[in-house]
Formats: sequence, C-alpha cells, structure tokens
Amino acid sequence: MNKIQGFYYVKSENNVYECKLRGILKRKESKDNCVVGDIVEISEDNSIINVEKRKNLVERPLVANIDYLVIQFAAKDPDIDYERLNLLLLRSFYYKITPLVIINKIDLLNDHEMTELKKGLEFLEKINIKYFLISQKENIGIEELKLFLKDKITAFGGPSGVGKSSIINLLQNEKKLETGETSKRLRRGKHTTKDTNLLELIGGGYIIDTPGFSSVELPDIKDAQELIALFPEFSNRGDCKFNNCLHLNEPSCAIKEAVKNGEILEERYNFYKKVYEKLKQERWNKYE
Ligand code: GDP
Ligand code: ZN
Repeated sequence: MNKIQGFYYVKSENNVYECKLRGILKRKESKDNCVVGDIVEISEDNSIINVEKRKNLVERPLVANIDYLVIQFAAKDPDIDYERLNLLLLRSFYYKITPLVIINKIDLLNDHEMTELKKGLEFLEKINIKYFLISQKENIGIEELKLFLKDKITAFGGPSGVGKSSIINLLQNEKKLETGETSKRLRRGKHTTKDTNLLELIGGGYIIDTPGFSSVELPDIKDAQELIALFPEFSNRGDCKFNNCLHLNEPSCAIKEAVKNGEILEERYNFYKKVYEKLKQERWNKYE
C-alpha cells in the first residue's frame, strides 16, 4: 500500500482525490482495513467512509480486487517450465484470482515447434484457462491482450527473462495520475495509489508491477481437502467410494478413473500428488 503520510488516493472516472480514512475505519487498527485496489465511498470532505466487500485480498503485496493473474512464460529462451506454471496456477486459485497464461516470444518458433507448444497447452483449455500466444518483439497478439486487460486490475508473475518488463512497458500509460482534486459530493471510486505498484493502462485499468506474484512458494493450504479444491478438474466428477478420498491409493476413486480414461491429464494428477506429498511432509505432519 502506498500510503503517503496518511493519505489515500482515490480515483473516480475523471479525477483522483487525496483522502483520509474516516475515524471509524481508522479505529479498527488493522493494516488491511483499506488497501490498494479497494472500491471505496468518499464524502464531500474527502474522507473514505466505506470500503466495499472484496472479491480477493493478497497479503504480499497488500492488494485487493485483482481481476487477473497473468502467468507469463516464453515459448523459448527460456523454455516453459510446466511445474512452475502449475505452481503459479495453484497460487492463483488459492487467492481466488482468475489466471491468464501468456506465452511470449512466439517469433522464435518454427511451425513444428508451434504445433508442439499448442499441444503442451491443451490442458489449459480443459480447465477453462485462457491463454495468449504473443510476441512483444513482432507485435503479435498485443492488441487482443490490451482489449482483454482493459478496465481490469492485473498482476504479472513468471520467471525472469520471459519479457514481463517488455510487455508491461508496452501496456502501461505514460500519463501520471494527478492528485489534489476536491470532491463536491459523494462519489465512488477505486482506491488507488500515486506511484509504485499500480500502473495505469492506456485504455483503462491497472497493472500491478511487483515481483511478489512470481513467487512459487506453496500457499498456506491447511489440509488435503483444501488442496483438492484447488484443482478445478477434480470437481464435478462421479463419487469416490470414500467421502474423504484423497485420490491416492483408495479403491474405486473417480479421480483416478478420470486420469485413466484421459479426462484428467496425467501431468496435472502427478503434480497434485507431488504437492500433496510435499505439504504432508513439510507442513501438515507438524500438526499431527
Ligand atoms: P523479464 O525478466 O521477464 O522482465 O524480461 P524482459 O522484459 O527483461 O526481457 C528479457 C529478454 O527477452 C530481453 O532481452 C528482451 O529483449 C527479450 N524479449 C522480450 N520480448 C520478446 C519477444 O517477443 N521476442 C523475442 N525474441 N525476445 C523478446
Ligand atoms: Zn478419489
């Protein structure tokens, strides 16, 4: 949160207002009572008087209401690390942020490699995740991406060297937010920040430019059922024999059945087993 000497910067359609928190919000004494990305209501004297219910909240960096997490890789140089892609997807589902996958540098591929890439990404379609094949260098797919991110709050994650900074520079607006307007009546607006982590997009919307979203640390998943819920393709299958089935060694398991007949990708199931084992060994056992 970029709180400058106790001021909050609230953007409405046409203006940015420099605001203070009203006493009742301030008294909560919590660092997340009003954060970057919040949709707020302000009064005539530029006080924030209400914070709307959030659709999500990330703690590091402290930001609310993120629409998309762009998970970016390069088609080549460096090659796609599918395990890392799966980890970033898992984090995205954990934080209730819709993931989008961007594969940049497609200018480096020949036709055969392009076919292979599309095959490798088929699993995303199965779990309804949109992906973009783009080249920042040759301006391929950029316009479609811009339209998609318009008026949204988007965070970027992925390894270094895949062209994240190049894309962010391309999307970002040159225009700086002006501050200091006085509000004349009640307005609603997106709570925003003067600089650092929220960058305004050319066509409207914001990009959050902080390295936090590239982290591949496993989030604070409490138990196996919470982990299972982070695999969208595991839901709406038939019933397993056991109610609390972990989909590992149990008999008559609907998930293992779906893996066998190709409805769930083997790579995704193996990734589930790997994360399960890791969490069990490194975290859950400690509480037993
Ligand atoms: P970041 O570390 O993810 O922020 O990546 P950068 O934006 O610094 O880019 C890493 C390298 O990839 C730079 O040398 C860029 O010139 C190069 N690069 C970025 N986009 C493209 C692209 O579309 N095609 C090719 N061939 N190279 C690119
Ligand atoms: Zn099962």
